[in-house]
Amino acid sequence: MVSVPQQRPHAPPRRGDPAFTGNLPAYRPDRDHHTGSFAAVQTGAMPRIQRSRVVEASERPRRMAGRGRAGRPMLVLLFWAGLTFSLLPWWWDTAAGSVTDAAAAYTAGGQITGMIAGYLLLIQILLMSRVGWLERSVGAAEVLGWHRDLGALLLVVVLAHASLITVGYAALDGATLLHESRVILGSYEDMISAYLATGILTAVGVMAIRRIKNAMPYELWYYLHTTSYLVLLLGYGHQFAGGANLLPGTFGRYYWTALNIFVVLCLVWGRVILPLRLNLRHRLRVLEVVHEGPDIFSIYVHGRRLSELQAQAGQFFRWRFMTGGCWWQAHPFSLSAAPNDRWLRVTVKAVGDHTEQLRWLDPGVRVFIEGPSGAFTASRRTRNRALLIAAGSGIAPIRALLEDLPRGAVVLYRASTVEDLIFRRELDWLAEARAAEVWYILGGRDDPAPRRAMSPRGMRELVPDVAGRDVYLCGPEGMVSAAVATLRKLRVPRRQIHLDPFEF
Ligand SMILES: Cc1cc2nc3c(=O)[nH]c(=O)nc-3n(C[C@H](O)[C@H](O)[C@H](O)COP(=O)(O)OP(=O)(O)OC[C@H]3O[C@@H](n4cnc5c(N)ncnc54)[C@H](O)[C@@H]3O)c2cc1C
Repeated sequence: MVSVPQQRPHAPPRRGDPAFTGNLPAYRPDRDHHTGSFAAVQTGAMPRIQRSRVVEASERPRRMAGRGRAGRPMLVLLFWAGLTFSLLPWWWDTAAGSVTDAAAAYTAGGQITGMIAGYLLLIQILLMSRVGWLERSVGAAEVLGWHRDLGALLLVVVLAHASLITVGYAALDGATLLHESRVILGSYEDMISAYLATGILTAVGVMAIRRIKNAMPYELWYYLHTTSYLVLLLGYGHQFAGGANLLPGTFGRYYWTALNIFVVLCLVWGRVILPLRLNLRHRLRVLEVVHEGPDIFSIYVHGRRLSELQAQAGQFFRWRFMTGGCWWQAHPFSLSAAPNDRWLRVTVKAVGDHTEQLRWLDPGVRVFIEGPSGAFTASRRTRNRALLIAAGSGIAPIRALLEDLPRGAVVLYRASTVEDLIFRRELDWLAEARAAEVWYILGGRDDPAPRRAMSPRGMRELVPDVAGRDVYLCGPEGMVSAAVATLRKLRVPRRQIHLDPFEF
């Protein structure tokens, strides 16, 4: 059980405050108790829906709806176009019919894999640069998924490059592999740093294996992982010194130089300039920490010009609380209320050392944020109506989204017991204000009633028009994958299912 300091230094921004949300009419205390159209599914038979739903189909998806999905094909196209241009110098410089024997074939393979490796490394760094246009196009989780997949491919390609070049040169010279390796290391320019880069990349690749990663403290893993920036630095000289197709004055030279400059500029922009500008402009400080439920608390933050913060409900920031023990770590937390001009709120579940410390934050502590990130927003929707499914701390972005989505949304909120439910009064109030239905689905993992509620039949009973809705899901992995399986059985198209995984 939590013991958040109960004494409040000053009145917190709560309901009744006209700025409680940016998007809703002021809260009316006389209707606070009204339950709107919410109901609880507990043990026993599935109750019938008690009130008819109000669905205002006149609310059309916004112009930007589905923008995230449209961004993906464009990025994929750019990726392949970039790769093609990266290989062109080799194609132009290699005379037709010149690859006649095994030695030439190995060497050509080595050159091609070298160029692919250089390109993939730049893409990897671009994916982690946190430039807004990239994360907005497909979402931070998908960007990270690409980074993970390409990371494995990059390692394979780098090792193939080193092996093929060594085998090819050894065959040309008629030398042993060991002798050729020594020659390459000793007599080619920038080879020591290239070998070092390969070593770092291999170590980072091994540490990315899930089991190894999970066995390490997250922060240690993270800081070791960031050494991969050194790979770019160490490999840069080798690319140009060893790249026979990148001689000064050639297209290859200009193209590869431009590519490197572009990626480094994105990195500096996304990681340094944007966060500095954001934090100098808003100067955030902790306002208050409020207990919400067992091991869950909300952190209210205030600052200057909050109305100018370009964030949407459902997005997350990386939060760095500038106090002893916390300042050196930035952790992602989603906004748990739509941004407004008075305060921001995140709702945190204490799961480890850092989140445990946050509940003791004092008012006035300086906060440094990076973001906003993520595409789990109302602008992603493709339909006029939405279904929101949450469990655990996943209710945080779902609660915020309910403010931003069209009226008539349905919320399924899964929890073990009624004590585990948070934001119950807020959800109740939002159900009223947004003509939404909120269903609390209570019970243990093996209880028949919640299992049934989350089955295709149960979900169809609760949300008969589920296939015509966008579905936003956030919660523990097991609940999310079971719900997605149910939704697919109910023929909800994949493009209508939006996930917000809380794990990177
Ligand atoms: C996009 C996103 C949004 C999130 N929103 C919320 C939210 O609104 N409310 C909430 O309670 N939790 C949220 N989380 C989860 C939250 O970030 C982690 O629970 C928290 O960072 C755990 O830190 P810890 O040191 O206390 O726990 P630990 O025990 O050290 O870590 C538990 C797990 O959290 C993850 N984690 C730890 N540190 C970081 C980090 N710096 N960056 C990314 N992941 C990390 C790792 O997977 C780790 O295994 C979100 C996570 C993501 C990725």
